[in-house]
Amino acid sequence: METIIVVGGGASGLVAAGILSQSDNYDVIILDQASKLARKVLASGNGRCNLSHTPITMDHYNTNHPLITKIVKEFDVVEFFKKNKMMVRYDHELIYPYSLSSLTVKNTLLSALKDVSIITDCTVYQIIKNNQYEVKTNQGTYYGDKVIIASGSPASELSGVHNLDMLKDFSIKIIPFKESLVQLETKPVYKSLKGQRVKCKASLYDHNKKIDEVSGEVLFTDYGLSGICIMQLSRHIYRLKQPVIHLDLLPEYDLSLLKDYQIEGLYHEKVAKVIIEKQLNIKDLSFKVEKSHGMKHAQVCHGGVSLDEIDHHLQLKKYPGIYVIGEALDVDGDCGGYNLHFAFASGEYVARAIKEEIC
Ligand SMILES: Cc1cc2nc3c(=O)[nH]c(=O)nc-3n(C[C@H](O)[C@H](O)[C@H](O)COP(=O)(O)OP(=O)(O)OC[C@H]3O[C@@H](n4cnc5c(N)ncnc54)[C@H](O)[C@@H]3O)c2cc1C
Repeated sequence: METIIVVGGGASGLVAAGILSQSDNYDVIILDQASKLARKVLASGNGRCNLSHTPITMDHYNTNHPLITKIVKEFDVVEFFKKNKMMVRYDHELIYPYSLSSLTVKNTLLSALKDVSIITDCTVYQIIKNNQYEVKTNQGTYYGDKVIIASGSPASELSGVHNLDMLKDFSIKIIPFKESLVQLETKPVYKSLKGQRVKCKASLYDHNKKIDEVSGEVLFTDYGLSGICIMQLSRHIYRLKQPVIHLDLLPEYDLSLLKDYQIEGLYHEKVAKVIIEKQLNIKDLSFKVEKSHGMKHAQVCHGGVSLDEIDHHLQLKKYPGIYVIGEALDVDGDCGGYNLHFAFASGEYVARAIKEEIC
């Protein structure tokens, strides 16, 4: 019997542990630094847990690496949860648990664990290769034949902030974590608009070059901009020098519409007042991006273990027996279920690879 240590009992780790624990060939141990498992799953989708997206396409991820594409495409989230007796529902292209409760997802993932030892408040800080892998923690050393790193990223800090410190002695490339899917601190700030939502087209520029454009709702805050379309644009910020966001608050029409309508007839009273008082250009309201609102507010991170380091089993090429899944890998996606989809998909894939179902 092989001992498999899973570092991190979040979305990806629980899927891998659940599948492996169903086989008599493995003794599975989950080590997690938190006192409770799956905290990010619980927080996901405002407590409703947007599990995945249909269709799922690679242009919503930071990579189209062939192996990651295969893993993303082959995973059937509906079938996976059906096997685990949980039903899903669709809200347009978004997939949720039928209960619309992330607690159902957490409970489903936990109920798939068979005779798994779960050690909480257990921070892994080093892994050493000997005959077996020695996994050093604040609660002593654990020995595993194989180790699955499913320790996530520091986004939101719900999964800790030392997610990959355990690999510090390994000679592998790790892309530093940078926050993504996060609100933006911008200038100017219109404080009296705080809490107002407006449907718009938001475009992101760097040095006058258009980087991306998204339609949706923007939320004005007292530090800058939020809302789904701003979160989507935030994915690019870490690599830009002079990011500027332009909002078109009248995306379907041109200004000739104002011959027939007044500003007060188009927007919420508070929004209309600011537009009129400050004589704002509703077709092009621009904001300089100062910085992201911080790691604590991010939903995911760029960065993690470089995809150059893994083989076709998601195993470190230089350290066979160590596997990396979920956000611990340098894979991140848009809002809309892409990140949980990859976490579940990579967890399932690695379990199948260990069970030698993948050649
Ligand atoms: C507020 C919020 C809302 C979100 N909503 C959605 C959504 O609706 N849809 C979507 O697709 N994605 C969403 N995401 C992103 C999604 O939750 C994550 O991408 C996903 O949970 C990542 O899974 P993971 O298994 O890689 O990591 P995690 O689920 O973060 O699990 C990592 C685990 O490892 C543990 N750990 C970390 N370091 C150590 C260590 N050194 N030793 C031991 N244990 C360690 C952590 O405690 C944690 O339990 C959201 C994220 C946030 C923060």
